[in-house]
Amino acid sequence: MKPVYMDNNATTQVAPEVLEAMLPYFHELYGNPSSMHSFGGQVMKQVRKARGQVATLLGASPEEIIFTSCGSESDNAAIRSTLASYPDKKHIVTSRVEHPAVRALCAHLATHGYRVTELPVDSEGRLDMEQYKRALTPDTAIVSLMWANNETGVIFPIQKAAEMARERQIIFHTDAVQTVGKIPLNLADTPIDMLSLSGHKLHAPKGIGVLYLRKGTKFSPFLIGGHQERGRRGGTEATPSIIGLGVAAELAQKRMDLENTFVKGLRDRLENTILKTVSNTKVNGDRDNRLPNTANISFEFVEGEGILLMMDEFGICASSGSACTSGSLQPSHVLRAMGIPFTMAHGSIRFSLSVYNTDEEIDFVIEKLPPIIDTLRSMSPYWKTGAQFCREA
Ligand code: PLP
Repeated sequence: MKPVYMDNNATTQVAPEVLEAMLPYFHELYGNPSSMHSFGGQVMKQVRKARGQVATLLGASPEEIIFTSCGSESDNAAIRSTLASYPDKKHIVTSRVEHPAVRALCAHLATHGYRVTELPVDSEGRLDMEQYKRALTPDTAIVSLMWANNETGVIFPIQKAAEMARERQIIFHTDAVQTVGKIPLNLADTPIDMLSLSGHKLHAPKGIGVLYLRKGTKFSPFLIGGHQERGRRGGTEATPSIIGLGVAAELAQKRMDLENTFVKGLRDRLENTILKTVSNTKVNGDRDNRLPNTANISFEFVEGEGILLMMDEFGICASSGSACTSGSLQPSHVLRAMGIPFTMAHGSIRFSLSVYNTDEEIDFVIEKLPPIIDTLRSMSPYWKTGAQFCREA
């Protein structure tokens, strides 16, 4: 059975064009781009091309692109590098809704002499910019705020936040893993010093990421080794993946309009129909300021895991909370930070779409989902009594 795949914020399928571009670099053109011979040199040319393609998507220069292994590595490199470059500064500003690649790292750093301010969000997942302003101090080494949230799709006001950090000469990093390819970015006009992206969220393979490093930003390599990436990240380049990411970046640029018309249209139809046909449902996150592909919907008095299992029988793939936190029965840290009541948070499902979804797939989910919720609710004593089945410890 072909899956009805609506879990694109967890990972995406590699685009056929990307796969095709990668294949020769495994078995025909396998030279090391650092080699002196022309067999390696021709691969270096393609790596250079890919660097340019990624830079164009971001509105950056090719020298500002550092290839890494994933979004998590880019996040770690950005934050650790800045702390190493500014050893006298011991304060980090971030938010409560970051991905674990930032959040767990900051929690770790908090046990190693750093002070971490985790900014709260409101019930719609929005930052309070006055609170953000107050958090910035002369001791702040870095601000790390995600551009868009992986669970709700809520977009933070990164332009404004970066400007405020710049005015205070504080390094500004953004985790744009979910943002790149979904909304247009132009780093030439945005005072961001560092940005993370991940290939497998934009139809490139897993195991390739990018750290954008603005020209002139101090950098202390995270991976020390050879001279690759201008000495900023040692290790022989993952040439097939880099070349694939270049093609994916070009595709993303071409498809940006589709994301904001076709994909958004599918998402809105899915969301609006569910809200209309299933009672006691709510969309989580600021509906006016979200990624076009993400719908996080709560079904009151139902367990998200139950919904996922029953949808799985029809081949429908979605997520409850982030893929990294599912497996735990705790509602996600994002929904908890937003203060979503437990009866709602437990039954939250994230549908995340891509250009490969179809109208027919939306019809299929709209048909299958309401009876699933009815079945689960008919088994729930809490649905009948309206009692809370879960309280925060
Ligand atoms: N940041 C965000 C917002 C994410 O959604 C993810 C992955 O889910 C990551 C970072 C980690 O990226 P990677 O899987 O490439 O390490």
